[in-house]
Amino acid sequence: MNENDRDNADELRSGAEAVTDGGTDRDVVEIPKTIELPRLLDFYELQNEATTEIVEFYDNLRDGQLTTTRCEECGELHFPPRIVCPECRSEDLEYVDLPHEGELFAFSTVRAGAPMGMEEEVPFVTGIVDLGPVKLSARIDDAEYDDLAIGDPVEMKIVEIDGPVDHERVFYRFEPQE
Ligand SMILES: [Zn+2]
Repeated sequence: MNENDRDNADELRSGAEAVTDGGTDRDVVEIPKTIELPRLLDFYELQNEATTEIVEFYDNLRDGQLTTTRCEECGELHFPPRIVCPECRSEDLEYVDLPHEGELFAFSTVRAGAPMGMEEEVPFVTGIVDLGPVKLSARIDDAEYDDLAIGDPVEMKIVEIDGPVDHERVFYRFEPQE
C-alpha cells in the first residue's frame, strides 16, 4: 500500500457510515511466528511416508527406476504420479516403469532466478524430455545450450539431494547420451 492508497483508505473509512462494528468478540487466526524459509523455498518435495502420498515413486527412484502411476480403471498413464486418476477419479492406480532414455522435445537455459541450491550453477539447461509414454520436464546436465538440438537422445541420471531434512532424497535429471 503506498501513501496515496493510505490516504484514500482513510477517506473511505471516515466517509462511510458504519452499520456494524465487525463484532467485538473476535476470532484469532494463528500464523507461525517464525517461518523456516529454506524449507519453503526447497525445490525438492519431501519424500518419506509421513510427508508424501507418492512415496513409492521416490522409493523406486532411490532404487534406480523411474516410475509413474497408471490407472487400473481407465488405463490413463500420468506424470507426475498421482493418487487419484485425473481422467476418471479412480484411486486404483498402479506404479509402472518408465524408460530411462528419450529425446529432447524442447529445451532452454536458465540464467537467473534459479531455485535454491542451483543459484551457483547458472547458466544451466532445462528441457522437456519425450520418453515415449510420457513427456516430463527436467534439468539437462552436462550440456551446453548451443550444443543441443531438438531430438537429441538423452538418458536419465539420479542425483542425491543433500538438504536440511532428516531423510534421504533423490531426484531425476537427464544428460546427453554418450
Ligand atoms: Zn482413470
